[in-house]
Amino acid sequence: MDFRKQFVVEPGSLVRLAEIDTGFVGDFADKEAARIQTEKNTAKLAELQYKLYAENRRSLLIILQAMDAGGKDGTINKVFAPMNPQGCRVQGFKEPSREALAHDFLWRIHLFTPKAGEVVVFNRSHYEDVLIVRVHDLVPKTVWSKRYEHIRNFEKMLTDHQTKVVKFFLHISPEEQLKRFMERLDDPAKQWKISEADYRERERWGDYAAAFEDAFRECSTPEAPWYIIPADHKHFRNLAVSQIMVDVLEEMKLEIPKPTVDLDEIRAAARAAQKKKLT
Ligand code: ATP
Ligand code: MG
Repeated sequence: MDFRKQFVVEPGSLVRLAEIDTGFVGDFADKEAARIQTEKNTAKLAELQYKLYAENRRSLLIILQAMDAGGKDGTINKVFAPMNPQGCRVQGFKEPSREALAHDFLWRIHLFTPKAGEVVVFNRSHYEDVLIVRVHDLVPKTVWSKRYEHIRNFEKMLTDHQTKVVKFFLHISPEEQLKRFMERLDDPAKQWKISEADYRERERWGDYAAAFEDAFRECSTPEAPWYIIPADHKHFRNLAVSQIMVDVLEEMKLEIPKPTVDLDEIRAAARAAQKKKLT
């Protein structure tokens, strides 16, 4: 199954989130089969990331967005954690500082984009500036409505700078969100994640969905596509995200670079070194 084809938002198309099945598992009703395939994928991802790092020419930016409790942290943990920390970073974006607010909205974002050879995962991103900012009227419509174009241009610039941009929306249902909120209440290891705003924001589900739908329509482009991943079932979510990432990286035709030195000469030097005792 080509998950890219299945879950991509076609540029300019209007998706209705409420009409998309968040519980979809395709051929993977069997959790164990999905887990095995995900592990294969993450091993492959680690291999591909090593090549990207060695090549030191191109880079990869992965953007994760979701409703609260949508599984951004879990996806990072299960799909991206096996990558080598040398060359891979996660960057979260919470409420902007006063300093950030005194600048254009992309200022704080651009600081954290990947350099050559690097993979960066954004846990939330500049899309918050057309999501929560829009839902809560944090800036007037005349301001946020121009941001879609700014985002397209920004991501195009990154792409032209050899950064592959891949964007995932982890799509859960309101029922699944409530279930996860309630599980958090009972799990001492997760209670710290509970926020007073959780239920307040949940009330605005429809407004967030509309804001996401506009962001997808405006900002899913051939070079920086949005994928909407059914995410009620964590095993399927991890499988789909890891599979898409493998496909994206394989398509980049990454190669370990050829050595820049003459290996025969270096071998001769190594043999000479073996014979020579250092004092
Ligand atoms: P979790 O999903 O695990 O709860 P989180 O990413 O929600 O983690 P929180 O500290 O709970 O982390 O929330 C960060 C908050 O910052 C979110 O509500 C998000 O909408 C908000 N935020 C991020 N970027 C902006 C922005 N540009 N303007 C206003 N609020 C923002
Ligand atoms: Mg939160």
